[in-house]
Amino acid sequence: MPAVNLSLTPRPAAVAAPEEGALVDRFGRVHRDLRISLTDRCSLRCTYCMPEQGNEWLARNGILTADEIERVATIAAAAGITTFRLTGGEPLLRTDLIDIVARLARIAGPAGPVEIAMTTNGIRLGEKLPALIDAGLSRLNISIDTLDRERFHALTRRDRLDDVRAGIAAAAASGLRPLKLNAVAMRGVNDDELVDLVEFALAHDAQMRFIEQMPLDAGHTWDRNTMVTREEILAALATRWDIEPVPARGGAPAERFVLDGGPATVGVIASVTAPFCGDCDRLRLTADGQLRNCLFSLDEYDLLPVLRSGQGDDAVEAILRSCVHGKLPGHAIDDPSFLQPARGMNAIGG
Ligand code: SAM
Ligand code: SF4
Repeated sequence: MPAVNLSLTPRPAAVAAPEEGALVDRFGRVHRDLRISLTDRCSLRCTYCMPEQGNEWLARNGILTADEIERVATIAAAAGITTFRLTGGEPLLRTDLIDIVARLARIAGPAGPVEIAMTTNGIRLGEKLPALIDAGLSRLNISIDTLDRERFHALTRRDRLDDVRAGIAAAAASGLRPLKLNAVAMRGVNDDELVDLVEFALAHDAQMRFIEQMPLDAGHTWDRNTMVTREEILAALATRWDIEPVPARGGAPAERFVLDGGPATVGVIASVTAPFCGDCDRLRLTADGQLRNCLFSLDEYDLLPVLRSGQGDDAVEAILRSCVHGKLPGHAIDDPSFLQPARGMNAIGG
């Protein structure tokens, strides 16, 4: 008998997706967060995300336009989505980014105006930040895995650490708070820098968040046995600070810990060793118009033909609801039969 992979378990056909109300899945999870990937292209080539060369880029005519993104977002907000997080690839590479932010910021749902957040590598952020804030951007997460220039170059295959640091400095000087910095913890790469990264974040009035590396790299080189775990991250931080967990995490992916009694905190996103699927409230829209209900899903729900064939908003909403309805209870990374999604993180949207 073949091994069972939760990601492959077929969706029950008998129960239809609800046609109205909040986006509640079969396990009672209410969906409020839509991650919108604006492009699969990037100014870096992080080893855990993209190949160095030979990436198969999405066809340009298959990328959602600003009009299409706005339409899907409006329908999603009416169904209860309250936060749009722009991501990629690198969202700052999208030339119409400011227009997209302005359009999304005008959307309101039943609970009021939506919130617009962005995850970015920070390169050239300073140039665009004032216009992004004017357009309605309200929160930023910036990724920085190491403070060492040579390590950064080796890890991202680009010599751009100074540009990332400039982006973080610009964000720190802006009024956008909370500001969060993300690092993927990697053995033999940056696992000796975790304390330094937290100090760096604190010096920029930001919260450092460490992410367990997930099997989403284009090269399929991820290894459960060598990844840096939540426990190891916490042990490294405990060499410098007293750390106490913050209760009431809600649907947030990061567990937060108070440093030396506060107010400073650090976050740990332990998708592999302490999955938080039970409270997941996230959906994803890829740059080419595929809805995904999980980072690790093998299923995608294709909006593009609906958006480009003159069908009404009801048809878009039906696919959105069907995507929520099809969500599985968990991602099963630790199951021996786990299958990595075909797309890398840059094309899924982190
Ligand atoms: N380019 C932007 C950036 O790097 O912040 C946005 C897109 S990136 C895919 C979003 C986040 O996903 C980043 O914080 C990145 O570190 C994280 N990420 C990418 N691949 C990952 C992996 N295999 N495991 C864990 N996190 C990953
Ligand atoms: Fe680009 Fe972000 Fe992927 Fe790094 S993690 S290659 S910055 S999309």
